[in-house]
Amino acid sequence: MVEEGERCKKCSSPLGEGELERSMNVCPHCGYHYPLRAPVRVAQLADEGTVQIVAEELRPGDPLEFFDLKSYTERVSEAQLATRLTEAMLAALCEIGSHPVALGVLDFHFMGGSMGSVVGERFCRLAKTAVEREMPLVVVAASGGARMQEGLLSLMQMAKTVVAVQMLNEARLPYITILTHPTTGGVFASFSTVADVIIAEPGAVMSFAGARVIEQTTREKLPPGFGSSESQLAHGQVDLVVDRRQLKGVLTRLLTLLGKGGSSG
Ligand SMILES: [Zn+2]
Repeated sequence: MVEEGERCKKCSSPLGEGELERSMNVCPHCGYHYPLRAPVRVAQLADEGTVQIVAEELRPGDPLEFFDLKSYTERVSEAQLATRLTEAMLAALCEIGSHPVALGVLDFHFMGGSMGSVVGERFCRLAKTAVEREMPLVVVAASGGARMQEGLLSLMQMAKTVVAVQMLNEARLPYITILTHPTTGGVFASFSTVADVIIAEPGAVMSFAGARVIEQTTREKLPPGFGSSESQLAHGQVDLVVDRRQLKGVLTRLLTLLGKGGSSG
């Protein structure tokens, strides 16, 4: 995050007081998209006064009693204190452009937006509510992947969330994802890339493994821009690259177009 009176970390242009906030944390000079906290994202997308936070009662446990340099419980407490979130996904029911939707937003500041059991379950609760109330599901991703401290239970969430998406498909309800920087690992390889419409923010990196890991493994040089939103658009993995300042407008038009029963499944 850039402090007032500072310069853009990408283009070094001076940023006036409140300038960045007024342009949705996108540099007005070069268009660099700064990372967003989940509550800010929800506020940017949802119609004012319509947000109802759900599934907050689901809190992470420590089933493996995992310990690396610190205990997992301690890491979770620290992340909760630092972010004032209970988990890496903020789940809400709200309206976007007067369309009722179920909205899930991952926050990279909470343990790298990693997907543990609670993130998976919150996603599934949102999908279930969307089916029950016949509303679309919109999810904003930002994640380093699976939550290592939950081991296999974390990896299971990949299958679990994809099955939940299948419920939306069967109910012919639209499912839209917005991939933001970075969306990688198990989140890229599961619910974030099986949507009816996949939107990406400009300049974001999204791939299963990072470029360096792939280069080390395959011993081949990757093309410049590998895994970027623009490259993923060119290769058909992403449907639209949308500037954050136009995102709500584009989502509203999409929700109008897809409507109930308009999803291709
Ligand atoms: Zn800039």
